Amino acid sequence: MDDCLFCRIVAGQSPSDIVYEDDAVVAFKDIYPKAPVHLLIVPRRHIASLVEATEEDVTLLGRCVVAARRLAERTGYAERGFRLSVNTGPEGGQVVYHVHFHFTAGRKPR
Ligand code: AMP
Ligand code: ZN
Repeated sequence: MDDCLFCRIVAGQSPSDIVYEDDAVVAFKDIYPKAPVHLLIVPRRHIASLVEATEEDVTLLGRCVVAARRLAERTGYAERGFRLSVNTGPEGGQVVYHVHFHFTAGRKPR
């Protein structure tokens, strides 16, 4: 997946501000933050979108959710709360076709 921006970030071939990584997941700061805290949580393995996800991806996607909990604790938003969202497909606002969870916090929800 040489043409995938987030695969390149995961591989360390594109610059990013990584805030968390483990064997399955990488999280980095969104380059155009839309909230005081705006992180992107991505599986290391390429999955283009939730429409492509299968039963085999359940653990990996779950790992992304657990990473969100860790990030919430680290950023101090576990109690205050945060939003985790996945834009999917053209009408879902997805621009980068490598599944990513937007972790946003610090702004009142609209
Ligand atoms: P989406 O619209 O859900 O596909 O979200 C893509 C997100 O990736 C947007 O919030 C962008 O601001 C963000 N983004 C694009 N390029 C980069 C990059 N090089 N590093 C970090 N975030 C990026
Ligand atoms: Zn990718």
